[in-house]
Amino acid sequence: MSVAGGLAMAVGNATAAGCESLQVFVSNARGWAPPPADPAGDERFRADLAEAGLGPLFVHAPYLVNFASASPVTRERSSESVAATLAKAASIGAAGVVVHAGAALASGRAAGLAATREALLPLADTGAGPGAPDLVLELTAGTRGALAARFEEMAELLATCDHHPRLKVCMDTCHAQAAGYDLGDPIGAAKALDELFATLGDRVVLVHANDSRDPVGAGRDRHCPIGTGTIGDQGFTAILAHPGLAALPVITETTGDPGQMATDLACLRRLSPPRSPAGLGD
Ligand SMILES: [Zn+2]
Repeated sequence: MSVAGGLAMAVGNATAAGCESLQVFVSNARGWAPPPADPAGDERFRADLAEAGLGPLFVHAPYLVNFASASPVTRERSSESVAATLAKAASIGAAGVVVHAGAALASGRAAGLAATREALLPLADTGAGPGAPDLVLELTAGTRGALAARFEEMAELLATCDHHPRLKVCMDTCHAQAAGYDLGDPIGAAKALDELFATLGDRVVLVHANDSRDPVGAGRDRHCPIGTGTIGDQGFTAILAHPGLAALPVITETTGDPGQMATDLACLRRLSPPRSPAGLGD
């Protein structure tokens, strides 16, 4: 949900679009500037969320963050940016901060993994405690140097970080399709999700549901509305039917337009298996 009008607008917009869970940026998605401090506004936002019954809440870190960068300046800025985003996320009661698993272009995979460990472990130890937001590492689209696009690559990244309990995982359907998991095929989708949970288990706490403009394995990250891309209705039906998703929040990032968001949510609900009342509220 865009917070262009301030956090205060997001709750009303999310409710109007039919959201249950919510993901926001708390600063410019394409910049390094930290989120503005506003303790009173954060408190109000938390109260509004609770009143609207919205949750869980996730905060997406800026796109520039890359812990695996060969540039010490980029790594330093990434750490500062995620530290500030984590603090804001704690202040607004978020369950987690979503950070893209980075890319090691110039330095290579081993150096990228080592640099990521060096950045993530101190962040994961910062402000830890009951209710503190998790660091949710997002599987990426498999563009050049991607540290974790394939599920086994994310498992290696988690192992490199000593399986720190505060590190979790987000699977993005468009990214997985780009990384070579054939989600447009119902059998391929079921197989991919079996593999996701077999490899990463209960570290997976969030699914980004985005259709893809590009064919499977293209390595390109171009989202499009649910049902209009190469994953399509068939693919999403299989994805949403997977038992691993039954208790996970599913968030779309197809567009900033609330009207389109409502359409995407209606589409996801239509393609979802009926929810058993016993499963609600778990
Ligand atoms: Zn995503």
